[in-house]
Amino acid sequence: MHLANFINGEFVSPRSGAYFDDINPATAEGIAAIPDSDERDVDDAVRAARAAFPSWSRTTAAERSNLLLKLADLIEQNLDDLARTESIDNGKTISLAKRLDIPRAVANFRFFATAILHQSSDAHFMDVAALNYTLRQPLGVVGLISPWNLPLYLLSWKIAPAIAAGNTCVAKPSELTPLTANRLAELSIEADIPPGVINIVHGYGNKAGRALTCHDDVAAISFTGGTVTGAAVAANAAPRFKKMSLELGGKNPNLIFADADLDDAIATSIRSSFWNQGEICLCGSRIFVERSIHDEFVSRFAAAAKSLRIGDPLDASTDVGALISEGHLQKVMGYTDLATKEGGTIVAGGHRLDRPGYFVEPTIITGLTCECRVLQEEIFGPVVTVTPFDSEDEALAFANSTRYGLSATIWTRDISRAHRVAANLDAGTIWINCWLLRDLRVPFGGMKESGVGREGGFESLNFFTEAKNVCVKI
Ligand code: NAP
Repeated sequence: MHLANFINGEFVSPRSGAYFDDINPATAEGIAAIPDSDERDVDDAVRAARAAFPSWSRTTAAERSNLLLKLADLIEQNLDDLARTESIDNGKTISLAKRLDIPRAVANFRFFATAILHQSSDAHFMDVAALNYTLRQPLGVVGLISPWNLPLYLLSWKIAPAIAAGNTCVAKPSELTPLTANRLAELSIEADIPPGVINIVHGYGNKAGRALTCHDDVAAISFTGGTVTGAAVAANAAPRFKKMSLELGGKNPNLIFADADLDDAIATSIRSSFWNQGEICLCGSRIFVERSIHDEFVSRFAAAAKSLRIGDPLDASTDVGALISEGHLQKVMGYTDLATKEGGTIVAGGHRLDRPGYFVEPTIITGLTCECRVLQEEIFGPVVTVTPFDSEDEALAFANSTRYGLSATIWTRDISRAHRVAANLDAGTIWINCWLLRDLRVPFGGMKESGVGREGGFESLNFFTEAKNVCVKI
């Protein structure tokens, strides 16, 4: 199958005529040919988006809302097909795609479709008899760059608020997971989204993605991906004074105090460590456990990790699927080797499965301290460390010891401590006795090198609008 770019409501070949392979991570076999797009394709897409902007930005919020709701309904009706597509494209288990990714994409479109109906802006009566109000207007053409780990979930998290606010967009999905974005393009036609409102250009990040961040007619870039790529995106977009939102990597701490509900902490930590093969930016990859329960935690946690079923992602009973690529698998395995060199002990997993595809066992490492590279660098795979701590202060120091600040989890029954620790953690999202729960209205984003800006709720709608200040003398 040859994929095509989606420009002005039509599927078109890349200008270069060149393609590269899309690989199924569970079989290591080619499944599609992906357009190797360049700046000419990006320019075509931006032109289409510019041409569509005047009429789209003048539609009423209610009209846009209805179209987004229609798209949400279509995604929901095609849940099984989309989950299968995403599983084949990404290596994730079909059960997770059905339970998390696709329903969340539906929720994203529904949320922003209805949020746009309730957006308001401030007005102030001034003493000098004037009225000063804020006029929020769409920016124009916006560039949306998303990663491979939650392909539809994260793409919809950007497309939905961008077009709900009246912008038109050019999206560049990850080169590793183009199939889901392609299905979204097909569904957007069925939903009657006008041509040019959503454009999708496939291809390499450092070619097509770079061209998007450098394009003079793109008013804003919303980027989700790794911290190193985020720096490159910022370096290209900043001198062109584009509005920017950067959602970047994480190395999230999971703090387990001795008074925690250990059954719940272990069951949830299994999910926060190994769901999606650990390829969720919010996974808690550094686990810190109060010393008095450390050994019990490690033995029960390791037993639970060893019982996870790893294998064919399309089998509904599989818990852990395939990593995204051979290159990524090599990176992950490099860290398990490094862990041993740094003095760690692998108490579960540590091996690649002897079968085609990119399968790595859920891996647990003990005996490493916070300065080790394994506890400092984002691995983004099914590999976690467990380290004991002796006091609340030490737990906090360990948790805050990286350059990242995306999310954190706290397990304790002491409500005062829970709030105290939450207030002192360097993290944009903090879960207490839970993980991955989030109301779509709250601002989402990272601290430190995990990101700049906030997305979610009205923050996203505000990001995708210009706030003009209008003052009228009465
Ligand atoms: P990545 O390598 O940084 O790529 C992200 C996107 O940027 C992809 O579409 C990529 O295209 C594109 N890209 C690469 N180089 C570019 C450039 N020079 N200019 C413009 N775009 C460029 O990240 P990934 O490996 O796909 O995803 C994993 C990372 O994302 C992890 O670090 C994870 O923590 C992070 N993440 C963060 C969040 C969050 O909300 N904070 C959520 C999910 C994931 P290609 O794929 O074609 O290279």
